[in-house]
Amino acid sequence: MNIGFDKISPTPKYPLGINAAQLSSYDWSSKAGVVLQFKTALKADLRTAQLGRCCYCRRILFDDISTHIEHFIEKAHYPLFTFEIRNLALSCGTCNTQKNGNNKLLLSLIKKRAERQGKAPLSRCPTLAQELSPNATLPSDPQHYRWVHPHLDKYSENIQIEKGWIFVGKTLKGSRTIRGVSLNALAQIERRALFERLATRGGMLSILVGFISELEQHKAKEVAAVLARVLRHRRNLPSP
Ligand SMILES: [Zn+2]
Repeated sequence: MNIGFDKISPTPKYPLGINAAQLSSYDWSSKAGVVLQFKTALKADLRTAQLGRCCYCRRILFDDISTHIEHFIEKAHYPLFTFEIRNLALSCGTCNTQKNGNNKLLLSLIKKRAERQGKAPLSRCPTLAQELSPNATLPSDPQHYRWVHPHLDKYSENIQIEKGWIFVGKTLKGSRTIRGVSLNALAQIERRALFERLATRGGMLSILVGFISELEQHKAKEVAAVLARVLRHRRNLPSP
């Protein structure tokens, strides 16, 4: 399937008159002009660099509200990298929610295990190969990361997306990313969306056009099965 972009290159630049040192004194959620200006400019530049697609699932990003600026190394773990452009990429709302949910689950498991062993829980960032010292600079070698890095790794070398939104790991990094963001949960979401897209079309000709356009992202057998459901659904609807 068409993944759009392989990695973010070239790296977007800081807006004119703004630099990382200046931003480092602010929180990510700050309403200060300089922070808002940085976020707005970065979102636009990343959209261009990512060809309008999510950095994890490669589906098209729609409105701005459901598009997130994602911290590849969590800002809660390393606040130092909060405004580092090479730590930032755009993700869809679903991937952002899945990643955060899985991270929380992982941290609570680590905490419970540490409690059982009577030890202090270790800080653990799932995207990093090993924890960094508090004043470390942002790692620039792909080997420092456990997941496919949107700025450093080529997606196509690590993950293959098959029709029907089935994600297959080609490397360990690819498999970890698929698991960490629950990418294979998207198949069901996309099947529901496919049903809705076909069900809301007008006449039979329009449905046929929709059927053909869906073949780019879904297997013919799958679209045919959804189409059969749409037609059954229509037959059961009361006449207008
Ligand atoms: Zn996504």
